[in-house]
Amino acid sequence: MYSDQDLAKFTEEFVEENRAILDDQFALRGAQFDAGLAMVHFPEGYGGLGGNRGQQAVIDGILRANGVQFEDLRINPIGIGMGAPTLLMYGSEELKEKHLRRIFTGEEIWCQLFSEPTHGSDVAGIPSRAIRDGDEWIVNGQKVWTTLAHVSSYGMLLTRTDPEVPKHKGLSYFVLDMHAPGVEVRPLFQMTGEAEFNEVFLTDVRIHDSLRLGEEGNGWKVAITTLMNERVALSGGAAPRGSGPIRDLVSLWEERRDALDADERILWRDRVAALWIEGEIIRLTNARAKAAAVGGSPGPEGSVGKLASAEFSKRLNEAIVELQGAEGMLHEPGYPMTRSSESMRTRSGRFLRSRANTIEGGTSEIMRNILAERVLGLPGDVRVDTAIPWSEIPR
Ligand SMILES: Cc1cc2nc3c(=O)[nH]c(=O)nc-3n(C[C@H](O)[C@H](O)[C@H](O)COP(=O)(O)OP(=O)(O)OC[C@H]3O[C@@H](n4cnc5c(N)ncnc54)[C@H](O)[C@@H]3O)c2cc1C
Repeated sequence: MYSDQDLAKFTEEFVEENRAILDDQFALRGAQFDAGLAMVHFPEGYGGLGGNRGQQAVIDGILRANGVQFEDLRINPIGIGMGAPTLLMYGSEELKEKHLRRIFTGEEIWCQLFSEPTHGSDVAGIPSRAIRDGDEWIVNGQKVWTTLAHVSSYGMLLTRTDPEVPKHKGLSYFVLDMHAPGVEVRPLFQMTGEAEFNEVFLTDVRIHDSLRLGEEGNGWKVAITTLMNERVALSGGAAPRGSGPIRDLVSLWEERRDALDADERILWRDRVAALWIEGEIIRLTNARAKAAAVGGSPGPEGSVGKLASAEFSKRLNEAIVELQGAEGMLHEPGYPMTRSSESMRTRSGRFLRSRANTIEGGTSEIMRNILAERVLGLPGDVRVDTAIPWSEIPR
C-alpha cells in the first residue's frame, strides 16, 4: 500500500501532467480513474490503488489546492458512493469495465431503487415483483423517494423474485436501464420546493439476467453492501477542521455576538463551542473509520457516523436559524419547483433539507437498532415475520 507521502507525490505529478484539463470534468476524472486516484481504496485497474478510504482525502486535498472544483457528492453521489462499491463486489468483469469509469466521471448518473410505498425501514418486505421469462425478468411495482431518478442512466433495483421463501431470501438485485420501456419517473416535491427525488413506476419492464448482481435470491446480501456504503457516504466527506456548515455558525456568531445582551452572549458562546466540539469529534471519528477501511464493503460500524452526522446536522442548522433571530424565519419567496438542490445554497434551505438527514439512508431509530444488535451485541428487535414465507406474512 502507498504511504500518504508517496500518494501525495504521485498526485502532484498527476496534476502537473494534466494541468491542461484540470477544469474538464470528463477528461480529468477519466484520467484520475486511469491513474488509480479516483477511489483509492479500490484495487488497481478499477480506479484505485488498494489504499484505505481515508487516503482519498490526501488526493482530494491536493486536487482542491490546485483549483479542481469537482466533488464526488455533487457529481454522482449515489453512483460513486454506493453503485461503484456494489459493482466492484458483485458485478461481472464486463459490467465493471462498462460502468465504473463512467460512474466516476459522471457520464452515467445512478440512482437507488429500494424503498417502496409500503416498505422503507423494512425494505426486505418489498412487494415489487420480477418474474422470469427465459433469459429475462419482467418487473412490476412502484419505487418511491428515488433521489436523482429523473437524471439517472441506471438504477440499483432490489425486487422480489421468489415470494414463497422468507422475505430476506426471495430478493434479487439488478442493474436497471432507467430508459428501458416501462420505466416511468414522476417528481416528488419536498418542503424546500424542489423535486430532487421521485416516484418510479415499473410496468412490465424487461431486464436481462446478465444484469443481475449476486445470486438469484441473494439480493439482500448485495443490498447490505449498498446500504453500508450509503451510510459511510452520508457520514460526510473529508472536510478540513472547522470548515463547511460549522464555519457558517462560527462566522454568524462573530457577526451577531455584539448585538446580543450579556446573558444571551454567554448562552450562545457555550452553544456554539459545544457544537464546534461535537462537529470536530464526528469529523475525527469518521476520518478514523475511513482510515481503517480498505476495499469495497464497510461494516455495521458505518452506522455510527451516519447516526451522529444526521442528528448533528439537524441541531447545527437549528442553531444557525435561531441565531439569526426573527430574520431566521425568512425563506426565499415562492417555491422554485426545480428538479435540483439549489436550496442548499441558502441557510433556510439547508435548515429545511436537514430535516431529511435522519430519515434518508435509514432512520436514526434503525441506525440505533443496527448498532445495538450488530456492534454492541444487545438483544434483537422483535421480529415475527422472518421465518415464514413472504407470501404468508399477514398484511
Ligand atoms: C431525502 C431522502 C432521500 C431518499 N432517497 C432514497 C433513494 O434514493 N432510494 C431509496 O430507495 N430510498 C430513498 N429514501 C427513502 C428512505 O430510505 C426511507 O424513507 C427510510 O428508509 C424510512 O422508510 P419510510 O419512509 O418508509 O418510513 P417507515 O419505515 O415507515 O418508518 C416510520 C417511522 O417508524 C420508525 N421505525 C420503523 N421501523 C422501526 C423499528 N424496527 N424500530 C424502531 N423504529 C422503527 C422509523 O424510524 C420512522 O420514524 C430517501 C428518503 C429521504 C428522506
